[in-house]
Amino acid sequence: MSSSTVITNIATLVTNDPSLADGTDGSPLGLIQDAAVVIDGDRIAWTGESSKAPATDNRVDAGGRAVLPGFVDSHSHLVFAGDRTQEFNARMSGRAYSAGGIRTTVAATRAASDAELEANLTRYLDEALRQGTTTFETKSGYGLTVADESRALRIAAAHTDEVTYLGAHIVSPDYADDPAAYVALVTGEMLDACAPYARWIDVFCEKGAFDGDQARAILTAGKAKGLHPRIHANQLSYGPGVQLAVELDAASADHCTHLTDADVDALASGRTVATLLPGAEFSTRAQWPDARRLLDAGVTVGLSTDCNPGSSFTSSVPFCIALAVRDMGMTPDEAVWSATAGGAAALRRDDVGRIAPGARADLILLDAPSHVHLAYRPGVPLVRGVWRRGTRTV
Ligand SMILES: [Zn+2]
Repeated sequence: MSSSTVITNIATLVTNDPSLADGTDGSPLGLIQDAAVVIDGDRIAWTGESSKAPATDNRVDAGGRAVLPGFVDSHSHLVFAGDRTQEFNARMSGRAYSAGGIRTTVAATRAASDAELEANLTRYLDEALRQGTTTFETKSGYGLTVADESRALRIAAAHTDEVTYLGAHIVSPDYADDPAAYVALVTGEMLDACAPYARWIDVFCEKGAFDGDQARAILTAGKAKGLHPRIHANQLSYGPGVQLAVELDAASADHCTHLTDADVDALASGRTVATLLPGAEFSTRAQWPDARRLLDAGVTVGLSTDCNPGSSFTSSVPFCIALAVRDMGMTPDEAVWSATAGGAAALRRDDVGRIAPGARADLILLDAPSHVHLAYRPGVPLVRGVWRRGTRTV
């Protein structure tokens, strides 16, 4: 029999369900002040005013702190080996650094054992959990052979349901002279080997990676095998990725840093989420994506880490929230929504990213009275407690 727990004396509860709000605020966060939450087994059973909470088996006093949904990090690359400290150091020291990039990580990942890759993945998942991430997506893309891509996905699938096949991260160095043959491999034998472990298919649509026609062929082949599309789009330059995402009903177009008005209109017309990844712009000293422009156009915006050893080596969603508020025109409420409900939308999930009866009991207890402190106190470890599927893990 499952046991029930009430968390009482919550100064601010973020539900992400405006119908549950106590009416003091028009926020999309569905805020309840002086609130309580009841967890029954692995689900949320009740939310409301602290004074009206029903009796339960266990009781936790939040001590006037804030509670919000666990973060939903819908974009990471965590099956890899090695790191790229020297590359980052060179970039931040103003020195040209031409060698390496993704290929450096591909070589290290191919050389690693299964146990090494799994230990590395687990290390970063634990790190993310301690910072409040309770749902995460992760991708292949550092193997680029049939055996190495399927191995990465098999390892990832042991830790999350949100597994993405990214054989089309870059053209494999083994096919540098024949990209068309690599696309044939990605849409053929490699797809067949990877599809059983993955829910999603992704492609890096960018100059130097895959063009619009190649991206369309790859995502369409994945759809035919039952995978749902998502895409790395418009990160480094303008391009066809965003509009292709909307056309193919991709769950998410990720990065969205360089957008035309037509791109923004396309996103506003469909249900493809624009997932912004400011850790990448931070770590490459690049132009920030304009979240305000997207929000004002009515686009659903997600916020994720893009955690990877090259361009965004952070597992911290709170850090990304602070960047989004400081540099991308988001309000604190919008950034928190995008890192929770927005991430869930980018994964087409409604059981996570909110604290409402029936949802999964994934919660964060902040060592602060309000979620606003995530942006107000950047870099401070504010996550005091984490419940995942109803069990306190931090
Ligand atoms: Zn990425």
